Formats: sequence, structure tokens, C-alpha cells
Amino acid sequence: MRPGELKADGLATPAEKLQAQSLEAAGQGSREGSAAAKPAAAAPATGAPRTLLPGATIGVLGGGQLGRMMALAGSAMGYRFVALDPAPDAPCGQVTPQIKAAYDDRDAAHELARRADVITYEFENVDADVAALLTAESYVPQGSALLYTTQHRLREKAAVEAAGVPVAPYRKVGSLAELTAAAAELGLPCVLKTATGGYDGKGQAVIRQPEELEAAFRQVAPGASAGGALPELVLEKFVAFKCEISVVAARSASGEVKSFPAAENIHVNNILHLSIVPARVPEEIQRRACELAERIVSGMNAVGLLAVEMFVTEAGELFVNELAPRPHNSGHYTMDACVTSQFEQHVRAICNLPLGDTSLLTPVVMVNVLGQHLDGAIQAVSTPDEAGNRLGVAPKLHIYGKTESKTGRKMGHINLLCKDTGDGLSWVEQTNLWRN
Ligand code: AMP
Repeated sequence: MRPGELKADGLATPAEKLQAQSLEAAGQGSREGSAAAKPAAAAPATGAPRTLLPGATIGVLGGGQLGRMMALAGSAMGYRFVALDPAPDAPCGQVTPQIKAAYDDRDAAHELARRADVITYEFENVDADVAALLTAESYVPQGSALLYTTQHRLREKAAVEAAGVPVAPYRKVGSLAELTAAAAELGLPCVLKTATGGYDGKGQAVIRQPEELEAAFRQVAPGASAGGALPELVLEKFVAFKCEISVVAARSASGEVKSFPAAENIHVNNILHLSIVPARVPEEIQRRACELAERIVSGMNAVGLLAVEMFVTEAGELFVNELAPRPHNSGHYTMDACVTSQFEQHVRAICNLPLGDTSLLTPVVMVNVLGQHLDGAIQAVSTPDEAGNRLGVAPKLHIYGKTESKTGRKMGHINLLCKDTGDGLSWVEQTNLWRN
């Protein structure tokens, strides 16, 4: 089942279902036969925050690179980890025990709940049933409401607006006629997106001329044109942005909020290529971006990390594009360039420790290592770094241990510590690894 789908069990929405199960776990439900809660860990999912000290076990749904880096940071603090992931040699499973099963395998989710004192996730498309099960049987400080909101663009935009933060003008679209009307209201160019499931530019189309409306509709909702079910769609005004930035903010279970400095993000083929910090926008905009991210994380009562992607216009306006309730690729620079990394911060937030200092220690450029760059990047760190020495750039390599390297697949990243981000960018230029 896809997240957000309706279940034929009489509960109208997944949120209601999750809420009902949370109430059951809290002893307020009346249904018999609910899954037995773990006695030592049973607590209302949304009840008083619990502080989990080093020595506690953190269960991670997902065993990719984000789980791996979270486990590495948390293990250094003395936490134990267990990850659930179907891959035989998952990046996280190489550094921590792994339950090898599908993400929607209920037996595996029961086991994760039994083995962990607190549960988190490294991706947002967590199956709604599994999220409910974990919430009922273990302690999930992030709750399921945040997932429910961020799994759906329309719900996410409503939550951002409710926090008093601007998004690009948009309309919900349910048919070609509605798309045509929405385009006339917003004015072209626009971007048509599926409300769920799209990422890295997939499931979306830019519409510049009225003649392109029908083709865009067919492309983004292919089933609908063939008479199938129509996915929910959203039409957004195209923002002629000067640059894209993101801020990773954190809120602890007891409500402390901090954000990391804004990163300027450059994408190639819709995949993040570079994060540049400090972002090359006026300090006032950097500050405002952090304030907006903090406002959203507070407004949503989020727990853990929330990455907020924004567009910056020539006039200095900020529009939120997307949220991610987890560590984010554009926050990897924090691993070497900030007092606290985003991964340590996430662990602190969910375990209800005081949040760490987010100060930037040095300018930095993060460059992603995709499948096609992997051999060259490994070669580059194993030979004297002439460009680095000349430019005063210290490259810090992070490789995720994925067994299969494919073009476009994120295999690692390099944090280039530098005196000026221009030097880091020159290193990327001169090492000549990122041309393909
Ligand atoms: P998304 O999947 O929403 O993160 O979009 C992927 C990329 O498409 C973004 O990083 C932008 O570069 C671009 N994009 C998305 N929405 C818009 C928009 N409303 N205006 C301009 N560019 C957009």
C-alpha cells in the first residue's frame, strides 16, 4: 500500500487510523485485540517527552546512507542502533545490526519495536500501517503526523502556510479542465506535480505555453488519460529563482529549536551536485531563511530534523518548495564544518538531549559523489592532492558502502573545507571529476 492510501476498515483517513492506534497505545482506545505494547517502553506516542541517555537503542526504519551516518554519529555518543532494511548489505547494516526485511513487513516492524527504545526513520515515505504499528508498540517521538503531512505536497504546503511562511502560489488540480482553469488563474509558466511520490524532479512537468497543458497532464498523470484513477496533482507558479537554498532545523522532544546555516544548492539533472556554505546571498536572507525554517519546525511541533528547501528570488523573497522530516543531503556539510553534525543533532533531538551548537567552523563546499564519479573520487584521495594544497582546500571523503554503483546513484560526498567557498568551487573545477 502506498502511504496516504485509504484502507477499507471504516476509518476515513490514515491520520484517523494512526490517531486511533495511538489512543489505543495510550490506553484510551476501546478496541480489543490491539497489538500488545512493549511493557517497558509503553507510552503515549504524543505524551510527555522521554529522555533517552547513551546506552539506549535507537531503531531506524531504513538502512541507507542517512541511517548509516546517523548510526555512526550516535554510536560515537554511546547509543546502540538497529536498522530495518531489505537490502542484503545495506550501508547502515555494515555499521550496526540489521533486520533484513521489507519496510512494510509487519513481523519485522514488531521486532524493530521490541529491540529499540526509540524509533526514527531515514526516509519519509514510511508505510502508514507500519508507522501506526511502531507508534503503538514503541516510542516514536517524531510521531506519525509529521510523516502524514510531508508525504503529500498539498498537506505540506498548507502546514507551511499555517506557520506563516510563504510558498509559491498553487492550486489543487483534479482534471484537465481544472488544470486549464488553474493555469489561467496563476498565469504561465507553472509546474505541475503529483501530490505524492515524486522526488528529484520526477512526477512533474514545467508548462510554459497553453498548448503544453494537455501533454503535461498526460505525462504527470498517465493513468488518468487512459481512464485510470487520477493521482492528486498540484499546479505551482514557476518561481524564477536566483538560487535555491535549504535550512536544516531541529526541534527536540521538549521543544528546543535550532537551525544550521543555510546552504546554497546547485542541482545537475535534478540531483544535488553542490551545497555551498555560507550561501552566496546577503546575510539578512540567510538569517531570514533560518527564522522561517525554525518557524515551520515549531509551527508543526516537529521532533527531530526538518529540512526546508526554499527558492530565493532576485527581489530577495523566499518561497518554501519542499520539506523533508529527516537528515538531508544538503546538510551533509555539517559533518565536518559545524560544531555539531545534523546526524548528532537528530539523535539529540529524538532522545531529548539539549541540542548542539550549530555554528559553522569554516566555509565549506559539499560535492556529491555519484556512481560515475566514484572511482575518480577514490583515486583522488589516494594520491597527493595538488589542487587542494595549492588552493588551501581540505577534502573530507565520505563513502556510503553501497554495493552497486550506478550512474546518478549517490555513493558518497566530499566536504571541501576551505578559507573561501570560491576555493572549494575551484577544487571541484580543477579535479575534473564531475564533468560526466
Ligand atoms: P521538487 O521535486 O519539488 O524538489 O522540485 C525539483 C526541482 O524542480 C527544484 O529543485 C527546482 O529546481 C525545480 N522546481 C520545482 N518547483 C518549482 C517551481 N515552482 N518554480 C521553479 N522551479 C521549480
